[in-house]
Amino acid sequence: MNIRQIRNATLVIQYADRKFLIDPFLAEKGTFPPFPNTPNQELSNPLVSLPTSIEEIIQVDAVFVTHLHLDHFDDTAKSVLPKEIKIYAQNEKDAEAIKKEGFYNVEALTNGASIGSICITRTNGKHGTGEIGMRMGEVCGVVFKHPNEKTLYIAGDTIWCSDVQDAIKTHTPEVIVVNGGAAQFLQGDPIIMTKEDIYETYMHAQHSTIIVSHMESVNHCLLTRKELKAFIAEKELSGNILVPDDGQTYLF
Ligand SMILES: [Zn+2]
Repeated sequence: MNIRQIRNATLVIQYADRKFLIDPFLAEKGTFPPFPNTPNQELSNPLVSLPTSIEEIIQVDAVFVTHLHLDHFDDTAKSVLPKEIKIYAQNEKDAEAIKKEGFYNVEALTNGASIGSICITRTNGKHGTGEIGMRMGEVCGVVFKHPNEKTLYIAGDTIWCSDVQDAIKTHTPEVIVVNGGAAQFLQGDPIIMTKEDIYETYMHAQHSTIIVSHMESVNHCLLTRKELKAFIAEKELSGNILVPDDGQTYLF
């Protein structure tokens, strides 16, 4: 497999004989105001440009939308993706919402799916704690399996929690992508992984390679790549936990 970090949680993955686009957030730099009630209100989203052309990014067989937040499926994605493209949503509700945008080949991942010989399983996650976590709503992750490929687990917008622990235990993925920008509001706990959460993920998956996505692209993500890399180096885990730049590709 081949995993390319695009920007924020957007990834392009070549897996077995298929190519997938995860969580397309394709707007031009600075299109949106900052998320309300978050730090860094002087910044506009996305903070950075795409590392490559939209035409290249959308040359895929299917798209996965882990949830409908703006930084995972935006108006640009809705307008540039072909209406016939296969889209997998986390549940029926999201699938219906995506169909309303004119896409007619949308499927809920509720019972998993298979694409050729690739087996796809939906996983759960927790997009924060307490009231904020409730307001963030339901999210999912995805596991890809194929006889000739390593198992890949994309955790989605989740903090470290029993759902992630269960997914690791159930699927024993060799490669794990976590969203690690430690995004947060002015009140409450982070809504995606902090560096401690990423470390906890590693502690439960010491034989896996962990890739950290969702970094330095939206205003409320407070954990920088520099800080995370320093933390990883201090734990002597630079070979286990990778922090890609936008546009960077890994081969497994
Ligand atoms: Zn997000």
